[in-house]
Amino acid sequence: MASQVQEANSTIKEIIENNKEWAADIQQKNPSYFANLSKGQSPKLLWIGCSDSRMAVDVLTKTNPGDVFIHRNIANRIPSEDLSALSVIEFAVKHLKVEHIIVAGHTGCGGVKAAISNGSVGILDHWLRPIKDLYIANQAELDALPDNERVDKLGELNVIQGVNTVSKLPVVHEAWKEGRELYIHGWMLQLHSGLLKDLDISVAGLKQVEDIYKLH
Ligand SMILES: [Zn+2]
Repeated sequence: MASQVQEANSTIKEIIENNKEWAADIQQKNPSYFANLSKGQSPKLLWIGCSDSRMAVDVLTKTNPGDVFIHRNIANRIPSEDLSALSVIEFAVKHLKVEHIIVAGHTGCGGVKAAISNGSVGILDHWLRPIKDLYIANQAELDALPDNERVDKLGELNVIQGVNTVSKLPVVHEAWKEGRELYIHGWMLQLHSGLLKDLDISVAGLKQVEDIYKLH
């Protein structure tokens, strides 16, 4: 127990030390950096991704603090009734006026793997249940694939569903009606190469949305 606590403390100490080094390094290179950053944010991107620790958005996109507004949850789900996701999207679109919304999944997603199995993962069973439904809706196509490809294909279908959900939100439609440029993209992070794969499903305007979802 004692060694566990010591180990945890050393991890925390290292993080705090790293932070001090990082801040000092930036301050030295650009003395006005933090003064400017503290004035506010105007990111052009909203990233909706998986909570997986390997999806280090700033690192893998070489972006800086202030560049990307972020929402993450397990398996990058976007339920159309989820107050947290909806609040993030509305704030990003309406107030920050982002130009791109990226829905990003990743290969080997543990959430998708759990959804495609019969193992129980506690309260997550409820959160992942719609991914099971997605599997059932595409079962013939998915069952024809080898096990490792099946998880990633279902992950892609989950991203496609997320892009579809975002493209049907009234707050997004309002932005398009105002003539603003707003793109919704679906990407998959390939963990084996570090590369982002564009699923080529980008939505750029109301023309790409079925009429029934357009509200007056
Ligand atoms: Zn994941």
